[in-house]
Amino acid sequence: VTDEQRFAELRSRLQEVDDLRKATWVLHWDLETMMPPGGAEVRAEQLGTLAGIAHERFTVDELGELLEALRGYEGELDYDSDEASLIRVARREYERARRVPAELRAEMVRAGSHGKQAWLRAREANDYAVFRPALERNLELQGQYIECLDGTADPYDVLVAEYEPGLTTADIAAVFEELRDQLTPLVTALEPPEEPPLDLGLSDRESRAAVDRVLARLGFDRDWGRVDTSVHPFMINFGTRDVRLTIYKEGGLRTVYAALHEFGHGLYERGVDPALERTLLAQGASGALHESQSLLWENLVGRGRPFCDWLARELGGVDPQALYRGANRIERSLIRVDADPVTYSLHVIFRFELEHELVSGALAPADLSEAWNSRVADYLGLAVPDDLRGVLQDMHWSDMLMGYFPSYALGHVASAQIWERASADLPQLDEELARGEFRPLAEWLRERVHRHGQKFTTPETMERAVGGGFDPEPLLRVVRSKLNSS
Ligand code: ZN
Repeated sequence: VTDEQRFAELRSRLQEVDDLRKATWVLHWDLETMMPPGGAEVRAEQLGTLAGIAHERFTVDELGELLEALRGYEGELDYDSDEASLIRVARREYERARRVPAELRAEMVRAGSHGKQAWLRAREANDYAVFRPALERNLELQGQYIECLDGTADPYDVLVAEYEPGLTTADIAAVFEELRDQLTPLVTALEPPEEPPLDLGLSDRESRAAVDRVLARLGFDRDWGRVDTSVHPFMINFGTRDVRLTIYKEGGLRTVYAALHEFGHGLYERGVDPALERTLLAQGASGALHESQSLLWENLVGRGRPFCDWLARELGGVDPQALYRGANRIERSLIRVDADPVTYSLHVIFRFELEHELVSGALAPADLSEAWNSRVADYLGLAVPDDLRGVLQDMHWSDMLMGYFPSYALGHVASAQIWERASADLPQLDEELARGEFRPLAEWLRERVHRHGQKFTTPETMERAVGGGFDPEPLLRVVRSKLNSS
């Protein structure tokens, strides 16, 4: 058997796994957008069955043997080649998938769904104590999971590697500490805004029509994409030429900006090199890189003056200055998902600090609610009135999603770095955006970021995008200019 034959065998096995995974995504998309509520119970079984088959096919011994046999071949190939990248990334994922026993995975899924129920009950009672036992159980299982994957210097590293391959807890902490120390004095000094939130007076139907027009001008083509409504907007894709966005049903400025955000995620998946199709490389590099793309379109394009000028004309009868001020309204608030681009990172940074302390054992779950409230006082200068507006607001810790929070703020950091780089490379960018010409920026992003898919780790992809690692300075420059102009 030649190496080429072995590689062809590996590729075809991985394609089969990818097909199964994408099929679960279709079921999931349908669940969120189309399915009548009565379908929920059977759909959960269907999703479980398909995911189980995909996991089985991915973790068979034969796949491991192929990956071993291909080590020499991989070494002869160029590191950047599609072939070497596929072998490398498949090995990383295979080893992770094999090291965690199926029973522990199943127990984590069960604990996650119990955790969500407990979290909902705690929210109803507005009492963190109702949720605490479930959190303790989740942390115990998370600890067992980390042991399977041997936590190196810091057990939280295992969770970081899951969402941001190539990064460590210490890398993230260094970026966040600088961002936090620079942002905190600016944010705690913020006065409440004088103007109320901008009301465009659009009906649901008018706002949907506006979103459709804006997406069409952005280059979102109905030949490879579609838009539906859901409770929470999201993007999902089943191939580089099948990208689904969802938006809010309700009209208003929030709907337009949420659509820009999901468009950014969708453009990333659309821009992945078609040669990577039907493999695990055909997706965004990481949570942070994905957020960098959605946030670039939402905040750096969408909340900039040139785009606001264009959007005001596009909407008709809207004062560009009022639209700009409305899109850049800055206000300290208690709820992360409502936070503006200036204050948002601080919400994420203290969640990262707290979950890092929980996982390492430095913070006991019994002290979490108090620890939360004191971080909000320190970083945002606000008093938390109750658990609902404090520690119980996010679902992540109830559903075993520890380790994902950092990606949100790293995405903010990266979006500003990528934006600065693109602006330097595209001297006409502002004029183009003001005219509603988005192709030059989209092309630049495809070349620098999108086409690589998941071939490279988070730092390797950043290196290719901006020539270096995460740096909070560009984001701080954006923040300072927003604060000075408002
Ligand atoms: Zn997003």
